[in-house]
Amino acid sequence: MIPLAKPSLTDKEEQSVTSVIRSGWVTQGPKVEEFEKKFASIVGSKHAVAVSNCTSGLHLALKALGVGSNDEVITASHSYIATSNSIRYCDAIPCFVDIQNDSFNLCPKLVESAITEKTKAILCVHQMGMPCDISSLKIISKKYDLPLVEDAACAIGSKLLYNNKWENIGKPHGEIAVFSFHPRKIITTGDGGMITTNSDNLAEKFRLWRQHSMGISDFKRHEKKTVTYEKYSEIGYNYRLTDIQAAIGTEQLKRLDDIVLKRRKLADHYSKLLKDTRGITTPKEGLNNRSNWQSYCVRINEELNTKEIMQKLLDDGISSRRGIMCSHLEPAYKTEPYSWTGKHSDQPLNLFESERARNHSLILPLYYDLSFDEVQNICCSLLKIVSACKFLK
Ligand SMILES: *Cc1c(COP(=O)(O)O)cnc(C)c1O
Repeated sequence: MIPLAKPSLTDKEEQSVTSVIRSGWVTQGPKVEEFEKKFASIVGSKHAVAVSNCTSGLHLALKALGVGSNDEVITASHSYIATSNSIRYCDAIPCFVDIQNDSFNLCPKLVESAITEKTKAILCVHQMGMPCDISSLKIISKKYDLPLVEDAACAIGSKLLYNNKWENIGKPHGEIAVFSFHPRKIITTGDGGMITTNSDNLAEKFRLWRQHSMGISDFKRHEKKTVTYEKYSEIGYNYRLTDIQAAIGTEQLKRLDDIVLKRRKLADHYSKLLKDTRGITTPKEGLNNRSNWQSYCVRINEELNTKEIMQKLLDDGISSRRGIMCSHLEPAYKTEPYSWTGKHSDQPLNLFESERARNHSLILPLYYDLSFDEVQNICCSLLKIVSACKFLK
């Protein structure tokens, strides 16, 4: 059985956990600090603040920018539901904008047309690791004085050409970028997240809020030679990452380049084997983008039944998933408020490209330990299945 994804964890990660357990300090402490420093230096940001997961990081990011009750935040419905949920955590309203059909990412023109007097921020997504059109979004964000937050959950190790230089996602290019270390992403700490920013003021808020707004951290108090009482200046959260997780993260970061290189080679292999296949369109990198290929997502011709293809792959021992969900189509958003802007805004609700991408695309297995032979087998199986399908036209 070939799974869709599998984390790559080695003896090094295992040993790092043992040493933390033996140290006697297991929650947020020196290992978290070490992980943050390494992360910031790799992506090129001034600050990196570790949190319990990407969703809690997005919540803090929007809160720190002052997003509150009845404000609107422009984002993609075509994303993992956590993106829009983080907006609802602030009691704000997601304004869903349609995606571009080539990149699965927000269409900047539609973002601009969705701006109202209630808009408080833009939350873009580097979907499946493919950098979105940050340069265009940055121009809009400056023009309308709206902060830009990057949902970079999938995008550690992805790069974009920015002002003619290749830069890492997370530098950040907006005000704030937030990453995930869930096992489906590029590197993992089990669960975990990281916020990057160049703002001292924002970083300070994140550090405070993630630990109940405790004025002095328990680790700092633990080290002090004088008795110190802590103060709680406002309501905070428990969004801490633990030292156990951070130790794993630090080891994973050392392997980031190697992991991304392997993923890029595997994606290349897929694209070579699947190109020119009737019924399948392979994903493409733009000239300004280098994806880490967090997911390798092919489009399936709309005349074909995606679910049936997935079932036949499964019968051949190959896991796959349908394309990224659309939040507005989930039961939760039947009652949650949102607004939207699609290409065909005369129609009742039309996020046409988002829904098309959800319904007619397929994510194929891609992970560090997948072999080139396995990719070949997956492609053989897929080609066999698709060529046996009946096309209507
Ligand atoms: C995975 C993912 C998230 C949520 O990340 P967690 O670390 O599980 O909270 C948010 N946004 C996107 C785009 C994701 O893919």
